[in-house]
Amino acid sequence: MQEIIDSLSKVLDPGGLIVGEEAVEQQKSWSLGASTASVIVRPKTTQQVSELLKICHAAGVSVVTQGGKTGMVRGCVAAAGDVVLSLERMTAIESIDELGRTMTVQAGAVLQTVQERAEELGLLFPLDLGARGSATIGGNISTNAGGNRVIRYGMMRELTLGLEVVLADGTIISSMNRMLKNNAGYDLKHLFIGSEGTLGVVTRAVLRLRSFMPSQNTALVVVQEFEALAGLLKSADAGLGGRLSAYEVMWNSYYEKASQREGHKAPLEPGYPYYVLIETLGSDQQGDAQSFEAFLELALEKELIVDAVLAKSYAERENLWAIRDNIESMLALWPLSVFDISLSIDQMPGYLDKISAQFKAKWPDTFAQAVFGHLGDCNLHLVISVGSEEPAVRQQVEEIVYSALKSRGGSISAEHGIGLEKRDYLRYSRSEAEIALMRSLKSMLDPKGILNPGKVLG
Ligand SMILES: Cc1cc2nc3c(=O)[nH]c(=O)nc-3n(C[C@H](O)[C@H](O)[C@H](O)COP(=O)(O)OP(=O)(O)OC[C@H]3O[C@@H](n4cnc5c(N)ncnc54)[C@H](O)[C@@H]3O)c2cc1C
Repeated sequence: MQEIIDSLSKVLDPGGLIVGEEAVEQQKSWSLGASTASVIVRPKTTQQVSELLKICHAAGVSVVTQGGKTGMVRGCVAAAGDVVLSLERMTAIESIDELGRTMTVQAGAVLQTVQERAEELGLLFPLDLGARGSATIGGNISTNAGGNRVIRYGMMRELTLGLEVVLADGTIISSMNRMLKNNAGYDLKHLFIGSEGTLGVVTRAVLRLRSFMPSQNTALVVVQEFEALAGLLKSADAGLGGRLSAYEVMWNSYYEKASQREGHKAPLEPGYPYYVLIETLGSDQQGDAQSFEAFLELALEKELIVDAVLAKSYAERENLWAIRDNIESMLALWPLSVFDISLSIDQMPGYLDKISAQFKAKWPDTFAQAVFGHLGDCNLHLVISVGSEEPAVRQQVEEIVYSALKSRGGSISAEHGIGLEKRDYLRYSRSEAEIALMRSLKSMLDPKGILNPGKVLG
């Protein structure tokens, strides 16, 4: 390994290489757990990434790329012999095209910085998620991140116009398209979006911006029946003139814990079956507020909702979102497992009934769960506790959650990816032919298997 370290050091400035104890120490984080790599390279340019990968490729040394390390599926855990490639020094916002509404960034740029830079110019980068202060654009691209506004603007795939990627052997593929339309052959960026660092290292990207939306209306509402959740979504979609930007549902099992925040009174009493956080983004502050209120009144009249609280200020809006984002409150269920799945809305009640019955039968005294999710995107998050941290028990819980998705055409991963965590269950959501094609692509682009080994496909 020393020989490799010597070669890597020649590509980088002294601050670009961290080895030994200091590297192991830096790998200590909640999302990495068992990461034990003792070499971290911190390039500043695509050219350096290319040189580093050439060295690792020639020596057959595996490389694990890390962005903000906020991933939820152990996608950037590195083993002792791996080289960690960190994008933390590639954070530049290179340019903004206000007319074409694009931003060109290095892959280590932090999501929140990108959002704020766009906002300064009256523009919007719509991707938004709880880890915005640490997650990077490269990580967002590599996981095809979703988040809170997918219903309006799509996932990271829809927000990425161009990409620069370095392949395992150091080849630079610069596909920095800035146009909405470009059908010149295969659109190669889609190969790398969502590939979780297994097909190439994303070094730069062209992001699609939108107009900043000055009017934001947010409400928390109570829904009594699951069918009304779907009906409310349909009428919000149709009745709010395309402005619906979030439709976040919390089952009471989640809301009753998440709404208990020190110093804050729950805006609506817990105990109802469902709570929905509805938000619109628009450009006409007065008109949007009026039509939002009219929509809520109509929903009350039609008995789609039975109670509602409307945010009247920025602080009130933040308070409503703080409940939705209060994932820490789930620690009350410890030991627990968190799942990110998707399935069509009409399948959700049957699915949840089935897995709950299985859990109750197997762990009658210790089973507890909480459910919430981006329902408008067919995405549920499940917090399941059966009272044990044992890996064998966790496996039994996973089997129940994932196997019931198979017959319903659901997905074992809605937005977090596969990483190490869901690798053994990929076949529940993908056919043999699909997995075989994934393997062919992997071996074509990374014949020595040095990029993020063991992740996604194993
Ligand atoms: C509080 C919280 C809330 C979250 N909410 C959401 C949410 O609503 N929606 C959602 O989708 N996710 C969510 N996440 C998960 C996470 O934030 C996203 O997956 C995010 O996109 C990861 O970005 P990152 O920079 O931290 O990537 P990392 O965790 O560093 O890496 C994730 C994966 O991408 C690979 N990778 C990273 N950078 C690159 C690169 N430049 N080139 C190639 N491969 C790379 C890594 O090898 C790894 O496989 C949340 C996480 C937290 C902690």
